[in-house]
Amino acid sequence: MSDFKTGIYIRVSTEEQAKHGYSVRAQREKLMSYAKIKEWEIYDIYIDEGISGKNLNRSEVQRLIADVKSSQVNNVLVYKIDRLTRSTKDLIDLIELFQACNCAFNSLTEAIDTASPAGRMFVKIIGLFAEFERETIVERIKVGLERKVREGYSLCSSTPSYGYSRSKGEKVQTVERSESKIVKDIFAMYLNGTSITDIAKKLNGQKVHTKKNRQWTTKNIINILTNPNYIGKVRYGINTNHYFETVGRHTQIIDEKQYYEVREKLQNRLRTKSDAYYSNKLECLCHQRMATKRTYFHGKCYINYICHNHNCDFKSVSHRYLDKYLNIANETSSFKEHFVQEKIKKIKIISLDKQLEINHY
Ligand SMILES: [Zn+2]
Repeated sequence: MSDFKTGIYIRVSTEEQAKHGYSVRAQREKLMSYAKIKEWEIYDIYIDEGISGKNLNRSEVQRLIADVKSSQVNNVLVYKIDRLTRSTKDLIDLIELFQACNCAFNSLTEAIDTASPAGRMFVKIIGLFAEFERETIVERIKVGLERKVREGYSLCSSTPSYGYSRSKGEKVQTVERSESKIVKDIFAMYLNGTSITDIAKKLNGQKVHTKKNRQWTTKNIINILTNPNYIGKVRYGINTNHYFETVGRHTQIIDEKQYYEVREKLQNRLRTKSDAYYSNKLECLCHQRMATKRTYFHGKCYINYICHNHNCDFKSVSHRYLDKYLNIANETSSFKEHFVQEKIKKIKIISLDKQLEINHY
């Protein structure tokens, strides 16, 4: 124990100075005698006098932190936890920092000694709180971003789509004239029958570059053709099951009719290219990812999507049936009501757009 290089931290606020037992002298005496009993070597005493503990903007607490980080101090001793900080968040951060630096932490009043089993439990509990706090923060940020999109703003963290620009501090993107012309060309070329590969080749031949100043790839072109920004929409949660699109505040470049014609054409193409195009894209009503199973009968291939969860009573759906449902479901609700098994409605499609992106044309 004597190889502990102890940093004693003392803090007293202006109001507390008058209170009995809280004065710098009183704290110092108690802590020094405690350290003496424990036979700890005292590296230094850090005193913040007349300062509140609401944050860590205190010169001596900062000096203590620096000495812990540089391993000059490997044992911190305080009279009471609230001497170190009155903020739970700061306490969590400090305890984690001490842990990371192999520095023990002791509070005389609360009898906390992180070198003891009870002290280690305390640290674990603090850790759990820290994790909870972090997750809550992440969740809060997500909610904030989602609300921003719902209000029609695209997220500033992402660069504006090709065809738009956004100056610093601006929330709404504006149309970039020369780029928007290229976007219109790409949509028109595709509808006129030019293949995606040829569109990329043509643009590269004309020395037109992408936003990142690179050559066009087929993936770039597909991203353009499937980007709802161009019809004035903003989106959230690409490739997640929280995905949604909503009306944005920016100006559209492509008219809806043209956009949906392109989408239709892309999807038809996809259907003929890949037989089991719902592979890895389905989530069963029990939240299990559905697997793809091919059965061959009289030389023909039959595709089924199945759920492997033993506790789930939904077993499988044929590709044909599901595809029919998905294509017709949007048009007539009577089909849904009369011909579709109730359960199929609950199967979730996870990002079909992603499938568009990864397919090679
Ligand atoms: Zn299932």
